[in-house]
Amino acid sequence: MQIFLYDTTLRDGTQREGLSLSVEDKLKITLMLDELGIHYIEGGWPGSNPKDAEYFQRVRETPLRQARVAAFGSTRRAGGQCDDDANIQALVAAQTPVVTLVGKSSVLHVEQVLETTRAENLAMIGESVAYFKALGKEVCYDAEHFFDGYKLDADYALSTLRTATEAGADVLVLCDTNGGSLPHEVAAITRVVRAQIGDAPTQIGIHTHNDGALAVANAMAAVQEGATQVQGTINGYGERCGNMDLIPTIANLQLKLGYTCITPAQLARLSELSYYVAAIANLNPDDHAAYVGRSAFAHKGGIHVAAIAKVEHSYQHIDPTLVGNQKRVVVSELSGRGNIRMRAEELGLHLNGHEREVLQQIKERESKGYQFEAAEGSFEMLVRRSAADYVAPFELLDFTVTVEKRGSNEITALATVKVRVGDELMHTAAEGEGPVDALDAAIRKALLPHYPQLAEVRLVDFKVRIIDAHLGTAATPRVLIESARGDERWSTTGASPNIIAASYQALWDSLELPLLRG
Ligand SMILES: [Zn+2]
Repeated sequence: MQIFLYDTTLRDGTQREGLSLSVEDKLKITLMLDELGIHYIEGGWPGSNPKDAEYFQRVRETPLRQARVAAFGSTRRAGGQCDDDANIQALVAAQTPVVTLVGKSSVLHVEQVLETTRAENLAMIGESVAYFKALGKEVCYDAEHFFDGYKLDADYALSTLRTATEAGADVLVLCDTNGGSLPHEVAAITRVVRAQIGDAPTQIGIHTHNDGALAVANAMAAVQEGATQVQGTINGYGERCGNMDLIPTIANLQLKLGYTCITPAQLARLSELSYYVAAIANLNPDDHAAYVGRSAFAHKGGIHVAAIAKVEHSYQHIDPTLVGNQKRVVVSELSGRGNIRMRAEELGLHLNGHEREVLQQIKERESKGYQFEAAEGSFEMLVRRSAADYVAPFELLDFTVTVEKRGSNEITALATVKVRVGDELMHTAAEGEGPVDALDAAIRKALLPHYPQLAEVRLVDFKVRIIDAHLGTAATPRVLIESARGDERWSTTGASPNIIAASYQALWDSLELPLLRG
């Protein structure tokens, strides 16, 4: 059975604190959603700001494969008429094939927030829906606070839906606006709605928020009771605790319950969609997001890793490739030899019986504050150095770092290093923005004449984390360096009570690794 996906990332999603999308951003996300088979894309509220009005104008000129664009707005104002209602006319001007009208279904909101009568609210719903049906639009009617309103006065809440259906609404969307409903309530109330609208051609939709961490569960409960449209956002972006996250909802509906949402090929790009929208929204992807997070299929415990080496699905709820994710073996002090072997094989390296030795070194270093989980480059170096015939491309022998502040002058940093390449011994010195930058510059200065390829290696991120923070300034800093060459990236780590020493270890690995990978 087909379930229609209605995305409101561009409207409800941007209600999230700190999230703002330009018109350009919105158009990029629109194209991606269209490509991945999302059926409806709610572009914004044209009555609320000029940016949304510009989006609707530009999206009209953008050819889409299949998605239908929806403009969002409220029913006409109390006591007015659709013809001269600014908000309604902004929706007309948006010229979208779909109009989504939000109206009140709760007597609390009708009488105490809107301060109008129950009868006038019904007239507002009926006239607004009929107005857009007469213009030939597909109309989704969003019944705001429907579940809460139903609990207050079920008859009235149902009469708002009946009014919308009689006026010709194509979809009745039951909204859990405050996000506090529970799945069994959503299921029971959706069942009643379905019985009430009976054989009407009107579809039922569900729009949930995540205030009780149940938005996905609530949407699924409604689908199991006959809702055929699910409204949510990519990555669950939205006001307060967020909207229903379409990503796990699509995966659950399709992989667990056998509904059809998108094609298997589109489903295999779900991880890409999640990352793409996060990147445009300028938000960090959630590593622990269900289905698509980097850690969603990461295995750390030795017993788990030993088991998946035998039967891959023994510790995985689905095959990660179905949603474009991948299995990952994490290396840490909790690892068994199996983890080490599998991770090395993923890197194309062979341990030739050195598993125990490498594991011993990992455990030793982790006890000093290293962390290999996020530093796969340093893990790779441990494995490579464990080979009996390993020849290091260089050796860092000594270093000094001077940080100086004299009078009112700026603080300066100078590093000198002694490096051996083959039989040749070099002394170099360099200044930097800070001590680590100076050290990096001095090491590169010594190595570049021998390894000109290092000119392409960039340091892209440098993070310091304090472990055992309760020790104050005597606590151990852990340094994580991320380096890049073209599209290739690697992370390396070091830990020491001395932050320069920790950085030195991470820098060493970060520069040695690219020489070995060739
Ligand atoms: Zn909402």
